[in-house]
Amino acid sequence: MELHNSKHMVLLSSTGLGHLIPVIELGKRFLFHHNFKVTILAVTSQTSEAETQILNSSPCHVIQIPSPDLTGLVHQNDAVVARICIMMRAAVPAIKSIISKITPRPSALIVDLFGTESIPIARELNILSYVYVATHAWLLALLVYSPVLDVQVKGQYVDLTEPLKIPGCSPIRPEDVVDPMLDRNDRQYKEYLTIGNGIQKSDGVLANTWEELQRKDLQALRDGGLLSKVLNMRIPIYAVGPLVRQPELEPSSSTKSLLTWLDQQPNESVLYVSFGSGGTMSYEQMKEMALGLEMSGTRFVWVVRAPNEGATDAAFFTTGGHDNDDKMCKYLPEGFVLRTREMGRLVPEWAQQETILSHGSIGGFLSHCGWGSTLESIINGVPLVTWPLYSEQRMNATLLAEELGVGVRPKVLPTKEVVGREEIARLVREVIGQNEKVKSNPVRRRVKEIQHSAVSALSKGGSSYVALSQVAKTIGRE
Ligand code: UDP
Repeated sequence: MELHNSKHMVLLSSTGLGHLIPVIELGKRFLFHHNFKVTILAVTSQTSEAETQILNSSPCHVIQIPSPDLTGLVHQNDAVVARICIMMRAAVPAIKSIISKITPRPSALIVDLFGTESIPIARELNILSYVYVATHAWLLALLVYSPVLDVQVKGQYVDLTEPLKIPGCSPIRPEDVVDPMLDRNDRQYKEYLTIGNGIQKSDGVLANTWEELQRKDLQALRDGGLLSKVLNMRIPIYAVGPLVRQPELEPSSSTKSLLTWLDQQPNESVLYVSFGSGGTMSYEQMKEMALGLEMSGTRFVWVVRAPNEGATDAAFFTTGGHDNDDKMCKYLPEGFVLRTREMGRLVPEWAQQETILSHGSIGGFLSHCGWGSTLESIINGVPLVTWPLYSEQRMNATLLAEELGVGVRPKVLPTKEVVGREEIARLVREVIGQNEKVKSNPVRRRVKEIQHSAVSALSKGGSSYVALSQVAKTIGRE
């Protein structure tokens, strides 16, 4: 096959900020470090203010593809993953039409996890195709192995008494399996298997992790590794991360005022609390969170979102709305805002997280453990209190707390039971390690080590830098 050759690539992002942000970051690397022209096709629905701002400020050329009409395709009870997959499938004709006409003709198409059904477009156009898995290698292993597990395992995964074994990788506890695998009769489970199969049809995978962090899983996935042998998978796996956003050069006025407050706080003394682009809690949990923060006596910045009453697992994610301070007070215990006005700052709905996390006063992050937030915490050397809500976050929390040692976790799973205020206060004190030197706080010490390895991987000659250069070379035919 004679492949088309040009220094233009197309990146495809599925809907949602958690997907768009990492795609833009990847695009920026190709643009600034490898002189590619980068076009991002962003499938969008219900574009929020934050999303519009991020789309508009991207240095890559962005073409928005509004979600096609999904009437009759999506059912009311469909979970997030099923909805996104159905949307991305319905958008394939529009994606194809744009890529076929775009000039100069691109030499590669890089899709995110939910865009694998667009890989045949690349085949038809004789261009290379890659999947950008904006998450870690352990999850990638589970994903590509899920069609095998589907045949091997009987019954629901969550009912198993033994962990799921993945050749060459750490086992996965039944309670940690990802949301799409919770119910095998659900539509999103079938979609998940389709993605697992689809990845292998590409010319390679780029993952937002790095060699030094996940050597074992990466080796298992690569040609000759235990997992690749079982799957007969031969595509190259490039660890190119951690690709995360840089702090804003021009923060918004509300961020500026927050930064002024942070400037006045001692180094590494403030806990940042946030649950990603759409994570929510029950009203009762919010009350305990507030009282736990207060009880801990620790300074905090909390991105507050309306509670999600009677939430089921799948409903811990919201596409949001907008809130103001008055409204925020209604979800919080009486007097809380007044009592904590010296020690805490509340941010309604959305914060410039990358800017906040890079401030020297931030000493801990109570996070839902989305992989984007996780990497942003690590690259800034900030240890975590893990608070997984949905998607693959339970696996992430286990990885962070048990394998990497950069986080502490509640005794119970926050989506299953309410975590009480005493427990929250204990975790916060443990992670912030008030008045302790770095040496005596094991999670802080460990996160600094991992931060160092992340920075090395990204720097010139580092493992991730070299991996991305290899991809650029292959695509650009240098
Ligand atoms: N984010 C942000 N401000 C917020 C909440 C989230 O800037 O108030 C960003 C965060 O920095 C990260 C992304 O949104 O880059 C969320 O991605 P992640 O993978 O952590 O979680 P998801 O939203 O996909 O669950």
